[in-house]
Amino acid sequence: MSLKFCQGPDCHTYTTQDRLKGTKPNKTYQTRRRSSFYYGNGNFCDQRCMYNWFQKFGDRAIDHFGRVTEVKHLTEQNAWTKNYNYNGYRNLPDVYYYLNTITKEQRPLTEEQYNNDNYTLNTGE
Ligand SMILES: [Zn+2]
Repeated sequence: MSLKFCQGPDCHTYTTQDRLKGTKPNKTYQTRRRSSFYYGNGNFCDQRCMYNWFQKFGDRAIDHFGRVTEVKHLTEQNAWTKNYNYNGYRNLPDVYYYLNTITKEQRPLTEEQYNNDNYTLNTGE
């Protein structure tokens, strides 16, 4: 099992007991390592480290991937959202459906379509 390193740039500067590693007299506070993390797609040990990363690199990341420079509009063409009703407590299959949040129209959806990130009824951003 490989360990992941917290990507927080200042993770090692927080003096918690779990960060104190090594053998005396060479103990140091170190970047957290875990098999998995809960924050930021599994890259950060906590919200503070995630926020520190964004403080330091967020602007560059946004500029790299494309900064929003004009308003976007929610229209009938891009208002389809995937939903499901959980019926497990009644021993019935879950019901998956598309809902247009502008027109309120609903259309049935298979579980495969629901789980397929590439499947969409939206025709615009
Ligand atoms: Zn961290």
